[in-house]
Amino acid sequence: MEIEIHNIGDNIGPRKILLLRQPGAGLEAIVVVDNIACGPAIGGLRMEPDITIEEIYRLSRAMTLKNAAAGLPHGGAKSGIIADPACGHKKKEILVRTFARMIRELTEYIPGPDMGTNEECMAWVKDEIGRAVGLPEALGGIPLDEIGATGFGVAVAAEVAAPEAGISLKGSRFAVQGFGAVGRHASNFLVKRGATLVAVSDSQGAIQNRNGLDIEALIKHKKEGFPVHTFTGGQTMDSDELVGIECDIWIPAARPDVLTENNVDQLKARLVIHGANIPATETAEQLMHERGILNIPDFIANAGGVICASVEYHGGSQSQAMSTIEEKIRANTFETLERSKKENLLPREAAVRMAYSRIEKAMAYRRA
Ligand code: NAD
Repeated sequence: MEIEIHNIGDNIGPRKILLLRQPGAGLEAIVVVDNIACGPAIGGLRMEPDITIEEIYRLSRAMTLKNAAAGLPHGGAKSGIIADPACGHKKKEILVRTFARMIRELTEYIPGPDMGTNEECMAWVKDEIGRAVGLPEALGGIPLDEIGATGFGVAVAAEVAAPEAGISLKGSRFAVQGFGAVGRHASNFLVKRGATLVAVSDSQGAIQNRNGLDIEALIKHKKEGFPVHTFTGGQTMDSDELVGIECDIWIPAARPDVLTENNVDQLKARLVIHGANIPATETAEQLMHERGILNIPDFIANAGGVICASVEYHGGSQSQAMSTIEEKIRANTFETLERSKKENLLPREAAVRMAYSRIEKAMAYRRA
């Protein structure tokens, strides 16, 4: 592994970078604990063959900002096991359990599921060291993708931001890219709040209906294993045309970098809620701002999952998780919009400042 850490870090972190090796088990892993001023750090454990220290550091910083912006009593960290997640169930269990034992004393870090790991992996971690989030229900876990924790938060962010964009949510029209855990639930919660879903895509195609897609029937269709474009309650469309669809709110809930300087001029929506992580490039976000399209950044809008994980960690119930998501995302979207107006900043910059000011306040209470 190439070790390049001289360009990493600033006045808030990272506080620890750990390289773990256990040749007997074939384990190689990286842990970055970025900042713990707000409390022990929550952050995912991923499994990928080509993880770098820099990548884990950047993801750990994203968690520091996300957890602080969400107002959670948790700092940010991230970890990665350098291995193929398709290495086989037995091998995976050995790697994850060995990893867990090696971070037993690192009590300032609470792992959660991420790419290549799942709730079963978190159960192994918990079994080894007594701490993890994103657990199976049998161990007190809250099934966040099933209940739609993140999608619910996305809908709350849309509700708060809509008036700011000159939209009345009830009667508004929205389009969603991606119909998985985030997109499906966000759509459902928005329809329940009186909005109309006019177009949606998944990895295989897209569908539209000017009069509104029947959300319950579409969810059933998708659950039965069919792609959205084969749904009979609408007209198929080219996935690339989704960006330019006539609507008020556009929700990316699939891949990173889908809104770029090459397509953002096609957007007709006045509000973009970032359900996916980094769905727009920096330039695209700037261009949207110049055109008066309001953007609610990912780490504000899609924090429902980590808020749910924090409630789970503190022994809360599913209904407590939902009410905490509503309360926190409502307040944080509102504060982001206020700061953005007052300080004349992009909403993302305003949200980053909000997170930094919370971290710096928390750091002032810690021993130097
Ligand atoms: P998922 O795998 O459940 O669903 C992804 C959906 O996107 C699927 O419907 C897939 O078909 C679709 N998709 C993939 N490529 C596409 C493309 N090119 N065009 C259109 N659709 C495409 O994933 P998810 O959990 O819903 O996560 C979606 C995004 O939200 C990711 O960026 C993820 O990092 C982010 N996110 C998820 C959570 C969470 O709690 N699940 C929390 C925060 C952020």
